[in-house]
Order: sequence, then C-alpha cells, then structure tokens
Amino acid sequence: MGASDVDAGAVLSAEPPKFSEADAARIALEVFGTHGTALSLRSERDQNFHLKLADGEEWVLKISNTGEDAAVVEMENAGMEHASRVDPALPVPAIRPTLAGGAIGFADGQEGRHLVRLVQFMPGALVDVEKLDDRQLREFGATLARLGRSLRGFFHPAAGRVLQWDIQHAPKLRPLVASVEPGVELELVTQTLDRWESAVEPRFSLLRAQIVHGDLSLDNALFAPDGTVSGVIDFGDMSHTALLCDLAVGLVSTMAGRVDALRAGAVVVAGYETVMPLEPLERELLPAFVEMRLATSLAIAAWRVGMYPDNADYITVDSPRFLSLLSELEGLGAEAAAAALASNCLPGVGGDELVRRRRRAFGPAMQSLTYDRPLQMVRAEGVWMIDAGGRRYLDAYNNVPVVGHSHPRVADAIARQGRLLSTNMRYLHAAAVELAERLLSTTPPEIDTCLFVNSGSEANELAWRILTATTGQGGGVVTEHAYHGVTTATAALSPEEWGDQGPPAHVALIPAPDGYRGQFRYEEDRYAERYAACLDDAVATLRERGFEPGAVVIDSGYTSDGILAPPPEYLRELVRRAHDVGAGFVADEVQAGHGRTGEHLWSFTASGVVPDMVTLGKPMGNGYPVAAVLLRSDIAAAMAERTTYFSTFGGNPVACAAALAVLDVIEEEQLIDNARVVGAYLRGLLEELAASHASIGEVRGRGLMIGVELVVDRETREPDSALARSVVNHLRESGVLVGRSGKADSALKIRPPLVFKRDHADLLVTRLDEALAAAAGGRVVIPE
Ligand code: PMP
Repeated sequence: MGASDVDAGAVLSAEPPKFSEADAARIALEVFGTHGTALSLRSERDQNFHLKLADGEEWVLKISNTGEDAAVVEMENAGMEHASRVDPALPVPAIRPTLAGGAIGFADGQEGRHLVRLVQFMPGALVDVEKLDDRQLREFGATLARLGRSLRGFFHPAAGRVLQWDIQHAPKLRPLVASVEPGVELELVTQTLDRWESAVEPRFSLLRAQIVHGDLSLDNALFAPDGTVSGVIDFGDMSHTALLCDLAVGLVSTMAGRVDALRAGAVVVAGYETVMPLEPLERELLPAFVEMRLATSLAIAAWRVGMYPDNADYITVDSPRFLSLLSELEGLGAEAAAAALASNCLPGVGGDELVRRRRRAFGPAMQSLTYDRPLQMVRAEGVWMIDAGGRRYLDAYNNVPVVGHSHPRVADAIARQGRLLSTNMRYLHAAAVELAERLLSTTPPEIDTCLFVNSGSEANELAWRILTATTGQGGGVVTEHAYHGVTTATAALSPEEWGDQGPPAHVALIPAPDGYRGQFRYEEDRYAERYAACLDDAVATLRERGFEPGAVVIDSGYTSDGILAPPPEYLRELVRRAHDVGAGFVADEVQAGHGRTGEHLWSFTASGVVPDMVTLGKPMGNGYPVAAVLLRSDIAAAMAERTTYFSTFGGNPVACAAALAVLDVIEEEQLIDNARVVGAYLRGLLEELAASHASIGEVRGRGLMIGVELVVDRETREPDSALARSVVNHLRESGVLVGRSGKADSALKIRPPLVFKRDHADLLVTRLDEALAAAAGGRVVIPE
C-alpha cells in the first residue's frame, strides 16, 4: 500500500493548477477542437472551467493537478460511463472525446503535465443546505442509492488507491489530528477516531463494499426546479470502500447547518431506502460513519490550513457547522442517532392535518388521541418508539410488544409464514397444534384445551358464551373499573366503558382489592379475603335481578383498576366462592399474561388457583392479532354438545408463527426473569422517589406491571387526576411514554415491553422526577 499512500498524499497536498480562463479556452480548442469562452469554477485540488461554446453547447473542462494519476482519471471516466449504462436516467455527465479520439488529453503548465477532460455541463442549481425541502432531501437520498446501485458491478484497478477522505483509512488521520486546534474540536475528533478504531474498524469488512462515488455532497448535486436531482458531478473521489461511505458523505452535507439535522438526515435515509434498503449492520454503524466523515473533514481542513494559510477562509468554511453536528451526534449517542436516522420519516401528511383528517374519517366515537400534543409514530425497536420527526421515546407503556417492538425474530416468522401460507383451521397445520400444546403445557393440568380467536375481546366473548351456556347461569361479576373487551357481551363486563349508561342488569360489581384507598386497607386483618367476600354481595345483587352467576371474570393485574397486587389469598378465596355458587372463573390474562408479572407466564399462577378458563390476547403475537381461550376439556365437551366452534382467522398459520416466536423469545431472552429483576429495581427506584415527592401516594405492582398512585394529600389519599394527566404529558414531551389507570385515572400505568433494562428504568425515573418537580413548581415545561 506504500506507493499508493504516497500518491494519495501527493493528490491531496499538490497545489491546484493555475491556468487562466484564457488558457482554458485555448486548451479546449487545442485538445478538443471547441470554440468558446471559459469561466473558472470552484474546485479544491483541480481546476474546472465552464465552457460555453459558440454553438450553444456547455461543457466543463477539467484540468487535473500534476499529482493525479492517469489511471484514476481513466477510472472516473469509466465509472461515469458505467453508471449511465446501468441506470440511463441517472443524471451523470457524458464525456466528450479529444480530437485524437481518446477520453483524456494533456496540457502543459508551470508544474508539469496536466490531464484534461471535457465533461457535460449539467443543468440545475446548487441548493443551500438550509433551503432543501423534504422532497429534495428524499430525492437526494434516492439518487445516492441509485448511484451506488449503478456502480455495484463496476471495477477498476485504480479503485484500490488510498484516499485520505475515504474513511476506511481513518486511522491514517492520526498524524493530521495534530493540526486541529486544542479544545473541544480536538477532543471530539480524537474521541471519534478512538471509537472508530475500537468499534467500527473491526466490523468494517462485514459491510457491503464496492466502488463508490466518494463525494456526493450538495456541492456535487444539482437540483431541477421540480426538486429532482438533475446532475451528479465530480467523480474525483472514487474508490473501493464500504457502500455506506457514500451515504455518510451525503448525510454530512444535508444535515450539517440545519436546525432539524436529524430529521433531515432521516428523510435522506428514507429516500435512500426507497431504492435500496440498508442492512442491519449498516443502520447500526451509520452514525459512526457520519461522525467519522465529519472528523475527517475537520482534521483535513485543519491540516490544509497549515499548508495554505492564505486559503484558510475557504478551506474551513464548513468547519463550524461540521463541529456543531459532530457535537450533537456525540451528545445523542450512537443508539439514539441510529434510531433517529432510520426513523423512516418519509415526508407525508402529518401533524394537524392528519389529526383533522383522522377526526373526519373516524368520527367522534373513536377513542381520542393519548396526548395533548398527539404523537405520530413511524417506527419502533425494542423499548424505543420513533415519531415522524425522528425523535425517539422510551416506551414504558405498551404491553403488546412484549418481547420488544419490531422484534426481528417475530417479524421474520410473520413474513416467512406469510409467504408460505395463511389459511384457516379447517386444514391440518402443525403450527396451530404446536402452539396449543405449548400453551397448555404452561397451565394447570386441568386446563387442557385451546381455542384460537383474534383478540382479547373475542377470547372473553367466547369464554362468556361457553360458560353461560354450559352453566345455564347468565349473570357476570367483574371488578368495579375493569375492562374486558369491546363486543356486546364483553362491553357489558367492562364498567370502565359504561359511562353514564349504568350497569347492565346481568352484571354485578365487586370492589377492586385496593388496600391503599379502598374499603378495606392493608392494615386490616385478612383485608384481601374481605375483598373476596364481597363476591357474596354481588351474587345477592344478581339474584335480586333474577340472574344466577355464570362467570367471574378477573384481570389479575387489575390493569384498569389502578394496577393492584393483592396477596394470593384474594384470588384463592374469590375462586372458592365463585365455584360455591356454580360460577366459572375466567382468568383474563390479556394484559397481565405472557410473563409480565415476572413470576410465570400467567399472572394467576402466583395465587395457586385453577381457573376454569384462561383468556389470552394482546402480547400473544407481539403486535400480530392472535388470541386464545384455554379451558377444561369437560367444559369444551359440554359446549360441543350444543354447537361447534370455528373462526376464519383464529389459529391461522401466520398468527401461530408469530405466537410461537413470541414464546421462543420469552424463553431464550429470559424475559420473565428480566421482568422480575428489572421490575423490582424499578419499584425500588420509584419508592426512593416517593421520599422526595409528597404527591406519590403508593408504588405497587408485580414485575413490569407497576402503578404509581398520585395523591393531592398523603393523609386523605385523595387521588390527583390532574397531576397524573400533567405528568403523563410532561413525560411525553421529555421523551418517555407512560399511561394512566384507575377509577380516577390517578395512577401512572407503567407496563413496558419486557426487554426493559435497568438503564431504561433509570431514565424513566429521572424524567419522572423532573416531571413531578415541574408540576410541584406549578409549571409544565414543554420543550420544543
Ligand atoms: N381484557 C383485558 C384485561 C384488556 O386489557 C383488554 C384490552 N385492553 C381486553 C381484554 C380486550 O382485548 P382487545 O382489545 O384485544 O379486544
């Protein structure tokens, strides 16, 4: 590599040629036979002239510096021709032959012999970075990808040259770094280089590599009035390197100097991915590439200023904005920057316009949006959700993505099965049988039969239908603020949704076992059993209305009742009493199931009870609709005497593939343990927080299902719904998502994906601390 090292140095350090415009016109005439005038164009190490010919044609005369290698110039020409051949619509300049019929001619100057070429002058205009609109950003990203794609099959022996600009040679920058001013800039450049060497270089060879343009910045891209790219120029930095280098160059150029740098970058990446998707490792390393490109530019600029002090203003013109972007990315961290850049924020309708259209399309009955300033999410990964502006949010709210948002294992299982077969259960299919067997292996032996449905509501509806039919008893009992579904039968079992309608005659309520504020308190002897004994009152109420109790339906995470964690005696006593009156007991695991409580897959297990039915949903497919009823075979047999069961989508192979993948991931990533350990850690932190915030009345829950009860006054325990609302909105503004629960909506509902780790818990509690402090100070800070 030694010889090419020297050559590369020569190209970078050689002075640009010094031909006058008159010289240029003369050279063009002598070498290419063209008659016209020449106008000098900006160039860093060569000389370019805009040539206007008498016949109206426009060309660019390129005079290389004497350090340039003829093979490299030949590669540039061949690259341009190759790209045009592969993608004829790419706006790549054509090349005009010399009078001798070659692509390259010569001109003698003071420093020696120069290579000269005539390339097509491309139409369009350069656009300042701050003026680029989203369409131009997207088109620019798409053009980068098309250019990369068009050069994929191109090779040339000169491509192995070592260019200092090519960040695969970043470590060679070390000696140049000495030229950088000591201080913040030097620190950032050094850190970037250190990180590159330790974290990126070892994986560099895993990236897609090919010959790339090497310098498609806004200085080398021309835009047409309609926002499309009308010219890609200056192929002088071509080399064989990671494909990602081109995107990094483009991103530096379109991000640095913009107040919305990350958002703009995300639009460029989205445009790029409309043509060519990034590979996972490319996504991960993209911020490091952008940072290294910035550090390279800063180091080379500092070094060149040392060599050409007179030219300092021109050489360092970009340095302040490069430094500021490097510092922004450094502050954000690699993971957040990668998430923001890959947020797929293609420009489209958003914000207020989307809210208006949504209101019009869905009407007033549709549930309102969660926040005062609604969020438009476009992507999510693990515990992070990314909005249309490229901002990421720590998701401490959503329980459906139980194994983490967009888990590749689940997404792949869905995609693979979707390409093979999606049909109904009237055909034999192994996945449905395997899923049923796996689920039933986790329940008490009495629960030995499985029926598949498509949602939690359907699961509860079916459970209700079977129990009321087989017991012949049409009454139901639920906790006072429960939610069990959206269908007619389950809405009747969901007092949270009753509104002013009041209870249906066939449903009676029992108080939720709230030992903090309810009728019976923790301090009272056998407080939990007392709550369970309330079932007798509910049964009496039903009988007064002419109903016998057929089903007691309980979400044992008490998710809508404020998230409660009564001792095992509660469910034991409740189930015993339910069975005494001939009612079935339904454990609604739609919310609390799939490992959330950190002890077992199913939350009822900790109480040692044997339900008559277990209903599953929400997290079962990590976002893919799939749900189930697990029940005793004698009940299933009694049902079968009356009717048989079939659901078009229930148990379809794609749903089963998703549900099986979820079970696999829970097991392999030991997410039940994680829920227990991180849940206990988080509850500990929240309890500590209570020491400095009088508004925290109680912290409760199990595993990663946690309620933080907010009160006006710790003595009276009066719920503070207004504070809860303000805190939830404040947290949203500071990048953390939590919800609210309970009769008064005064408990913060924390139930993140189970891949939530300690540092996520730390972040959540830090932000909650700030939100509570801000509310206590009477101000709600809404950062823009
Ligand atoms: N049961 C419980 C405990 C629930 O929380 C929900 C949904 N919030 C349901 C049932 C209904 O599930 P789905 O919305 O999937 O129909």
